Amino acid sequence: MSYSPEVYAKIGEIYNRRRRDAIEGLDARIEEANEKIPGMRQIERVLSATGLRAMEAIRAGEGIDAVREENDRLVARREELLISHGYPADWCDPRYVCPLCQDTGFVDGKYCACMKDALYRAQAELSGLGKLLGAQTFDNFDLNYYEQREEAASVLSRCRDFAENGCARGENLLLIGGTGLGKTHLSTAIADCAMRNGRSVIYESAPSVVENFRREQYRSFSDKTPVTTEKYFDADLLILDDLGCELPGAFTVATVYNLVNTRMLSGRSTLINTNLSASEITERYDRRIVSRLFGNYSVCLLTGEDVRMQKLREKK
Ligand SMILES: [Zn+2]
Repeated sequence: MSYSPEVYAKIGEIYNRRRRDAIEGLDARIEEANEKIPGMRQIERVLSATGLRAMEAIRAGEGIDAVREENDRLVARREELLISHGYPADWCDPRYVCPLCQDTGFVDGKYCACMKDALYRAQAELSGLGKLLGAQTFDNFDLNYYEQREEAASVLSRCRDFAENGCARGENLLLIGGTGLGKTHLSTAIADCAMRNGRSVIYESAPSVVENFRREQYRSFSDKTPVTTEKYFDADLLILDDLGCELPGAFTVATVYNLVNTRMLSGRSTLINTNLSASEITERYDRRIVSRLFGNYSVCLLTGEDVRMQKLREKK
């Protein structure tokens, strides 16, 4: 379980920059105070040599209590000077974005909350979910729009369990249902939950995924933007949206099979959404895919009337 390497690289760089900014900002503020406030430069000089003074005191067998007391006195004096010259008392303290971890991202050897959130956000950005994220959650999935309320409630609870536990076990889910029945809503909620649990997620439509494999395979020299399909194999959770909307043909079938099979063998979770019925899936894909989907995926079925249409009617 881990986010994509790009996520760690990006966030690592951001935290390095934050620490650098905090130090540079501090240097500039200290210099300004030294310039404008008589006596400040002398205090700063003594304070910045604290380590050296402490070492000398230890070497002389004196202990560091005297150094500490002297420092406390100087810090108090510095505060007085700052305030009397119209500066805030903490002018000479570093200003971290997160004072808790001082922008290192770690507290007591564990991720700081700020780091967890930054990693999640960076992963969310990469996932392809965009604005959907956060707006569609398990909690705001409204069962009242489903005639078969119990059946929908069971799908909701299985999706929640898949997000919270199934992903970690490399389980797979096939979500079948017509347009507007909440497949996207549930998939987004699953992706969000998985990413909050530290998993890398790719959410993409089947046509787009197949198209990327095609471009990679038949890339011409004039094609300047490189296509990488590794992410589809590497992500902890791949959400393949709208299976059945891709162009039919041997290439599609081979690609879908390769993806489904490879991910299964490597123990990585896949969630597939489709408008196709079970019999349409059987007709369209070859038996190897069908046997994988119905043999190794838990199948969830959403039935009823298009929720979006119901909501639109309510607004009128
Ligand atoms: Zn922090």
